[in-house]
Amino acid sequence: MEPIETFSELRLIEPLQRAIRAQNYTTPTPIQAAAIPHLLAGRDLLGCAQTGTGKTAAFALPILQRLEARPSAPVPGAPRVLVLSPTRELAAQIGESFETYGRYLRIRQAVIYGGVNQNAQVRALRRGVHIAIATPGRLLDLKDQGHIRLDRLQTFVLDEADRMLDMGFLPDLKRIIACLPRERHSLFFSATLPAHVGGLAASLLRDPVRVEVTPQSSTVDLIEQRVLFVQQANKRPLLDHLLRDEALVRMLIFTRTKRGADKVAQQLSRGGVEADAIHGNKSQNARNRVLDRFRRGRLRVLVATDLAARGLDVEGISHVINYDMPHEPESYVHRIGRTGRAGAVGMALSFCDASERSDLRAIEKLIRSTIRVDRDHPFHSEAAQPREGGPARPRRLRRPVRGRRPVRA
Ligand code: AMP
Repeated sequence: MEPIETFSELRLIEPLQRAIRAQNYTTPTPIQAAAIPHLLAGRDLLGCAQTGTGKTAAFALPILQRLEARPSAPVPGAPRVLVLSPTRELAAQIGESFETYGRYLRIRQAVIYGGVNQNAQVRALRRGVHIAIATPGRLLDLKDQGHIRLDRLQTFVLDEADRMLDMGFLPDLKRIIACLPRERHSLFFSATLPAHVGGLAASLLRDPVRVEVTPQSSTVDLIEQRVLFVQQANKRPLLDHLLRDEALVRMLIFTRTKRGADKVAQQLSRGGVEADAIHGNKSQNARNRVLDRFRRGRLRVLVATDLAARGLDVEGISHVINYDMPHEPESYVHRIGRTGRAGAVGMALSFCDASERSDLRAIEKLIRSTIRVDRDHPFHSEAAQPREGGPARPRRLRRPVRGRRPVRA
């Protein structure tokens, strides 16, 4: 079979084609081309893909089309489709995607997540929705209160399953899965597929098609990655130094702790850089406001913790900076996936001090490659750099590959 290259080859109905045109998408991304035909045919799917690959449209378009093919008035409290997401931000983004792609259809949906008053969500469910997009905790709360039932569900999507398990949602997931009808269409997405995630997929899916767009443990090709060895105390001055480069247009900085995120954002703001932080200690409304400012380009820097940034879909993030190295190597893959989205070029810079070298080694093992060392900055620390023969052998790199503009450091 010839590979699919256009949306018209995907046999999507006209209202969906129109919505796609309105988004100015010209070609399906690889996961869309690979998954949509199978999903339209009703096959279960195991999708190994990160955010940024276009996976939301890969499941949202066929789900909308299948709902439209068998129209029915929504039954109060009983959606036909459930999409589970690990975080509120991702749930909200998936909701927006369904709205965007379904704008010429009469499909109703609700996004259900915690941290905000439940009344609006309960009212939406009472009116009836075809699609519920939910985080596990609030879904179970509303279920326990009798506001939602899952027995009429036709399609179940588990998004970012690896992250869901990392965040300790397995008990919640098990409770939710126990309520699903046996006969259903199931879709399972995960950026990485370690054994425990694969086991969960096997228990949920029936004869699934497997679609893998970034091979397991490999990072997105379009992202240039560098590690900068620096002593902890010099990370701030190094960041200031990098920020003088205007090529760092819009950047996402990761810290390990919420306090660290606040501190970096405050220090940057005091120095005149438009910066703010998002993390789990902020109310959902405060997080939404910060995200909105970042999206509109009012903030140059967003400082985030791993959980808060999960699933974040903001276009045009030029740089991801790991101010602290992540303890879990998988987080590195998730973090850097925030840049270089949907074909754009991005860059990921990781600050690594001596105590973080083991984190770096674990990351390089996972991604099966050595991250280039950038020593071309005034805070380079020989002490922080692994010895010759270690996994991150120093390599001076003056010019980025594929002729892109170097970050002056
Ligand atoms: P996702 O992986 O679903 O988070 O999507 C990442 C980004 O790619 C989103 O901003 C989408 O709007 C965008 N996108 C999805 N599909 C396409 C496409 N076929 N062409 C261009 N952009 C797309």
